[in-house]
Amino acid sequence: MHVVMVASECAPVAKVGGLGDVIYGLSREMAIRGNSVEVILPKYDCMRYDHIWGLSVSYDDLWVPWYGGSIHCTVWSGFVHGQLCFFIDPHSSDQFFNRGSYYGFFDEAKRYAFFSRAALEFMYRSGKRPDIIHTHDWQTALIPVMLCELYAGLGMQNCRVVHTIHNFKHQGVASGEILAATNLHRPDFYFAEDRMRDPFNPFALNFTHGAMVYSNFVTTVSPKHAWEARHTDQGYGLGHVLHRYQDKFGGILNGLDYQMWNPELDPHIAHHFTAGDLTGKAGNKKALRHRLMLQDNDKPIISYVGRLDTQKGVHLIRHALFTAIWNGAQFALLGSSPEYGINDDFWHLKHFLNDNPDCHLEIGFNEELAHLIYAGSDMFVVPSLFEPCGLTQMISLRYGTVPIVRAVGGLVDTVFDWDYSPLPREQRNGFTFDHPDFAGIESAMRRALGLWGGRPDLWQQLRVTGMQYDYSWNQPGQHYLQIYEFVRHK
Ligand code: ADP
Repeated sequence: MHVVMVASECAPVAKVGGLGDVIYGLSREMAIRGNSVEVILPKYDCMRYDHIWGLSVSYDDLWVPWYGGSIHCTVWSGFVHGQLCFFIDPHSSDQFFNRGSYYGFFDEAKRYAFFSRAALEFMYRSGKRPDIIHTHDWQTALIPVMLCELYAGLGMQNCRVVHTIHNFKHQGVASGEILAATNLHRPDFYFAEDRMRDPFNPFALNFTHGAMVYSNFVTTVSPKHAWEARHTDQGYGLGHVLHRYQDKFGGILNGLDYQMWNPELDPHIAHHFTAGDLTGKAGNKKALRHRLMLQDNDKPIISYVGRLDTQKGVHLIRHALFTAIWNGAQFALLGSSPEYGINDDFWHLKHFLNDNPDCHLEIGFNEELAHLIYAGSDMFVVPSLFEPCGLTQMISLRYGTVPIVRAVGGLVDTVFDWDYSPLPREQRNGFTFDHPDFAGIESAMRRALGLWGGRPDLWQQLRVTGMQYDYSWNQPGQHYLQIYEFVRHK
């Protein structure tokens, strides 16, 4: 099968969060299964170019229709750790992707509407007729719409589209001007309530709504979240649309790329280890302490790595830090936020705690340090308010670090409470709490610390159980393949 992934991120070359990990991991899994897989990305100026091999011009003369005229683009190609990727490089005064960071600009909708149109035009002009175009999140949600309305009549009618929603909070809401820009035109048609109208603002278009209507299949990133999006407010206004299209909607748990996240081979950690021999973990803890200037003592290290977004429960992350210190543990945080307010708060906290030898806050994005934190910590907190899937708890499990998570979304599908899960003891792998409040996270952290200090033998068992879980792409890859096959023959 010929599969083209179109997305705004791909790890490690252009990664802000889990979306990047998923694009790389899923693409590789599909390639391993014998499919021909290509990834199309924007050519950002801030990418990690050191992770691209053989970057060269692949298509020099792509003219992408935009408003009444067109924008000249160069399409580059290169290999990202073995995966063939194409990078769209528009030459226009808008400088859509030359802005020093990935997201957070006033014209986001336009940037990615252009990228979507360019990705389709590139496929069309270069003669690519993939069996499956797999689009991801709102940034590429206009592709199914444009494929059907503009490109099917040009010979691309046999391409099928699968759209994956990684985060319902971000749906791509824009004014009708986008229709003129992309040449879709016909506002009366697209603003219809059952086509692309935003559920909250009748004068706005909603890209994700469009993708739900026009795709052959829609997925989200865990079975639990698929249910939450349909039946609770976590669909952010699109629950009724999921209901309407329930026959082509499902939740597939994300996987982890077990080559990229592998404590046996990871080049970014100080000592390698396995579930059978965890001795290397102590060396990583020492290296982490050294790297973060934490005191060398006999306390456990609790950590957090992730975007500092309200979604992640920032007030609970902060509370976890103090709970750790008050209960005789150390705390390490690596994260950043595009919101100045949240970033400032954590910078203040960092200064406030500057002299404390038991905690360290690293504000920013650092892939290499993240690996060492997963490997060197004893516990990892994920107190999300909502969490479509979450990868950090799965990475922690893989590195023998016990997750303490809020029981929501994909966290419910992956972490099973040591004390209260109905699963047999030998299948329980972490600690969970239900209510996203101080009492909830405190009680789970205290239970974890109690086991760590009181029963090292059981703690060891808990770690090993976590490491033995298989959260690789193996099973999810099989599920996606079934969906690809299903829509191909529909
Ligand atoms: P989300 O997709 O909501 O950001 P996930 O848990 O699905 O959250 O995935 C987060 C991914 O991004 C993980 O690979 C995590 O290690 C990585 N990550 C997030 N923030 C940082 C950071 N500041 N530095 C390094 N890696 C980060």
